[in-house]
Amino acid sequence: MSVTWTMKAVGLSVVTLSLSVELLFWLCRRLRPRRILNEVLFFPSDLACVEHIYNPNTCFCPLPHGVETSFSRLLSHILSASSSLDVCVFAFSNMDLSRAVLALHSKGVIIRVLTDKDYAAITGSQIGVLRKAGICVRCDTGSVYMHHKFAVVDNRFLITGSLNWTLTAVQCNQENIIITEEPHLLQPFIEEFHKLWVKNDPAKYYHSID
Ligand code: ZN
Repeated sequence: MSVTWTMKAVGLSVVTLSLSVELLFWLCRRLRPRRILNEVLFFPSDLACVEHIYNPNTCFCPLPHGVETSFSRLLSHILSASSSLDVCVFAFSNMDLSRAVLALHSKGVIIRVLTDKDYAAITGSQIGVLRKAGICVRCDTGSVYMHHKFAVVDNRFLITGSLNWTLTAVQCNQENIIITEEPHLLQPFIEEFHKLWVKNDPAKYYHSID
């Protein structure tokens, strides 16, 4: 075999080998199971401005900027919703969380909020603001407190824990939340939300007319 042919054969082998290695890496990447979202956040959150989440480099308030905190993580998870957000919280008065929900609503994300009927009426509650914006809100009318604090994003992941959606809970209290995509944890919460949503359908209210 001539030297030229030998060199061509070697070159071809090198190209084939490198292509095989590339293919192997590509297959490994494709076949590797995606890491499931599981995160724990503790509160009170460090105090920091969250304006950059909406409008980068536009805020000059005295708070730290661009800092990742428990609260900014929570907000980012909520704002990742692309199709639906089901919120089931006893108390909802946090204006930053309200802003996030309103932003999702204006993007066309289907929002459902289930909350306590008494807390919905207190000063500072964001429930009226959400309703005014056209967001569907139902108040629990049961004889015991609907004391849940959870949300389901895109039927894909769950946010649950001790945190009410209030400023005090975020900035002052020791609270925890778990954010998880684990299906066996997510599914019961989807079912619980559905059960309470149907139970508190105002169309089911009956009033006797004297
Ligand atoms: Zn700021």
